[in-house]
Amino acid sequence: MKAWRFHGFGDLRLDDVPEPACGPGQVLVEPLCVQPSVTEAQLAYGIPTLAYDRVKRRLETEAPVQLFGHEFCARILDVGPGVQGYMPGDRVAARAKLPCGDCVLCRTERGDRCRSGPVIGFDLPGCFAERAILPAIALVKVDDRISDSEAACLQSLSDSVAAVETADLKLADTVAIFGQGSMGLECLQVVRLSGAGLVITVDVRDEACRVSRELGADHALNAREVDVVAAIRELTDGVGADVVFECAGGSPKQGLAGTQTLRQAIDAVRSGGKVVGVSWFGGPVEVDIDLLRERSLRYVFPDISTRGHLEHTVRLVASGRVRLKPTITHVLSGIEAVPRAFEITANKGRYQAINPAQVMMRAAGPG
Ligand SMILES: [Zn+2]
Repeated sequence: MKAWRFHGFGDLRLDDVPEPACGPGQVLVEPLCVQPSVTEAQLAYGIPTLAYDRVKRRLETEAPVQLFGHEFCARILDVGPGVQGYMPGDRVAARAKLPCGDCVLCRTERGDRCRSGPVIGFDLPGCFAERAILPAIALVKVDDRISDSEAACLQSLSDSVAAVETADLKLADTVAIFGQGSMGLECLQVVRLSGAGLVITVDVRDEACRVSRELGADHALNAREVDVVAAIRELTDGVGADVVFECAGGSPKQGLAGTQTLRQAIDAVRSGGKVVGVSWFGGPVEVDIDLLRERSLRYVFPDISTRGHLEHTVRLVASGRVRLKPTITHVLSGIEAVPRAFEITANKGRYQAINPAQVMMRAAGPG
């Protein structure tokens, strides 16, 4: 079968590889729609971010290697011994980080917090291939009301659901969200379902602000046009937002906001409030800790998403309570289009993409 393999950073080739076989506890799937995550797209080009050292080591010692492809919708072709609850024909998505099954957390029913297990696409081959083997414990069934394209976003949406849960919103809390890319727009929709009061969003792109309003922002501020910290303070009677999500930071080379939005988030939150750090910055960031201490700010990071988050995500999308279609801007056709999806996703700013670029793995046939 054909699979995309990395021969080095920036060196992606469509290779012939042996057909994978299904072992105990595993399923064989045909990927239907796959998207590179932003992290994967940056790593593909050797841009330092989450898991950079791990990927570099694998490339240096094991290349060529099948990497990435944990955000997908796939159809089950076969199930291995001991797999229950799944049948050939079922459509599935997956969580990426798996429990190891062995450590003290896993042995005491806290496997959701385990950090020692494998990650799909990083330790196990992902779905940038004609077929893939997946552990059944990673999977969730995709409801018939969810399209292949939407299902490929479920894993990312479950991270946003986990981020909102980490924020521990109180009823009517005022929320500000910096960055209206895919995770910002997801956090927007999930906070509205979680009891938020006034919701203010920030982006530098008119189109992202428009989509943000369409998806329920009370105020979508364009940071190129207004002083957003002053505007958020004015909209909150001078106090600042109860909770601020920072979803905009990262390398300006990829069209992200650098570290400026982190400082703005700290300035826009009320004293005693919470900043939820969703972004990855790709290196050390200078922060005035004494200022955070003086204002009793809580700077918190999202918990990793669990199977429970992913199952909740399926319900949110199937019932129409979270809408993903308006965020899907680029859909490509055929397995050959995978490198193009990496290029667009690594440079979302340049391509005016909101969600990562998706690949429908089977090229549409004639008619
Ligand atoms: Zn474990």
